[in-house]
Amino acid sequence: MVLGNSHLFMSRNNRLAVIASHTQESRFLYPGKRWTRADLLGDGAGLLESNCPGSKDGKYELLTAINDAITEEVKDLMTKTEMKGQQTETLLAGSLAKALCYINKMSKEVMKGNQEIRSRILVIKAAEDSALQYMNFMNVIFAAQKQSILIDACVLDSDSGLLQQACDITGGIYLKVLHMPSLLQYLLWVFLPDQEQRAQLVLPPPIHVDYRAACFCHRNLIEIGYVCSVCLSIFCNFSPICSTCETAFKISLPPVMKAKKKKLKLAV
Ligand SMILES: [Zn+2]
Ligand SMILES: [Zn+2]
Repeated sequence: MVLGNSHLFMSRNNRLAVIASHTQESRFLYPGKRWTRADLLGDGAGLLESNCPGSKDGKYELLTAINDAITEEVKDLMTKTEMKGQQTETLLAGSLAKALCYINKMSKEVMKGNQEIRSRILVIKAAEDSALQYMNFMNVIFAAQKQSILIDACVLDSDSGLLQQACDITGGIYLKVLHMPSLLQYLLWVFLPDQEQRAQLVLPPPIHVDYRAACFCHRNLIEIGYVCSVCLSIFCNFSPICSTCETAFKISLPPVMKAKKKKLKLAV
């Protein structure tokens, strides 16, 4: 919330959306359903008049309203979701797709004239990678790259190969937080500045990117595998027919087979 508030304070033109990526649902925490279009395009004045009793602590009212909305939505999400076992994989690919759609919508609505809007997505991740989502995830990443949308990642738990690739491809920053109590300082130092300001800062050096891809048959991350020459699907084992596009591969028989035939003839 502090990062989001700071982002809105950096410029009057800045906009914010927060999406929760949970195990069974990805949901907009802000702006939620009770925010009207006027609130998002203007400075929230419409909402303030109707819903907000006014600030008691001298804080800018819009920020209080946003923080309250986020708190309520998180509470609601957590109470309504049943956790099944220890599974922590979240619907990250879906959440990123939602973010891209939202950016697309906003850039069409906000843009008046030819003013370009520069968007970025920050993923704060505390869950495990989901190799099952590899395909969807990579599609989203390339869509973001095409739209020149930066993807930053702030990883709280184990390293994420998928997010490393996402940041590398889109030109964002990947950071694994080593000391959790200083999370906010990392966020404000590394992720608050926009792309232009970053050039003037001494930020953490780029990390080594794990560029392994997931095979389409078992979703395992592999370094060397078989690639279909037609659809570029990746497989960890050889199969004569591509399971994605059903191309049958014409391959010359391995020499072992010929040797066997000769031996058979000799035996006869
Ligand atoms: Zn496989
Ligand atoms: Zn294929």
